[in-house]
Amino acid sequence: MDSKKLIDSIRKIPDYPKPGILFYDITTMIGNKEVFCELIQSLAERYKNREIDFIAGIESRGFIFGSALAYTLGVGFVPIRKKGKLPFTTVSEKYSLEYGFDEVEIHIDAFGDKKNARVVLIDDLIATGGTAQAGVKLIQTLGAQCVEAVFILHLCELGGKAKLQELCDVHCVLDI
Ligand code: AMP
Repeated sequence: MDSKKLIDSIRKIPDYPKPGILFYDITTMIGNKEVFCELIQSLAERYKNREIDFIAGIESRGFIFGSALAYTLGVGFVPIRKKGKLPFTTVSEKYSLEYGFDEVEIHIDAFGDKKNARVVLIDDLIATGGTAQAGVKLIQTLGAQCVEAVFILHLCELGGKAKLQELCDVHCVLDI
């Protein structure tokens, strides 16, 4: 994957959603068929021989990359959602935000009858790593294995990757 082409395809919006935040808007990247296809193909290449059973994506941008990757690999997709969105019995995990808490959930039977399912977790971006840590814990709580957590963008300054590496292997396409 050509890193320059990838980063150039992502729109950067200063002071969104609040002053001081530089927001990485991936809508411009997924709207670019060449870049989006190349990205998904390169991720599929990375995982195709690793006996992956499921891709788990974190709401909501992880759904876009995760379902495209799952389809390309020919495996199932599992959504990890914000609290209160999944209709069946869930397990949940809280994580801290700058102020307060948030919570993500997964369906209790997300990996079916598969013992020790091999799962890749995906999201668009890792910042503090709180969301991803909660996602990995949910996968592990269900008795599955997070083979790797993968992100398109990694904001290096915030230290999220190092914290997540205490739980599983981590791959970031772009470190910025
Ligand atoms: P964190 O839990 O701090 O690692 O935050 C990761 C989640 O917040 C991901 O789902 C990202 O989509 C979103 N996020 C955090 N910071 C940014 C940013 N600067 N630009 C775009 N999305 C962000």
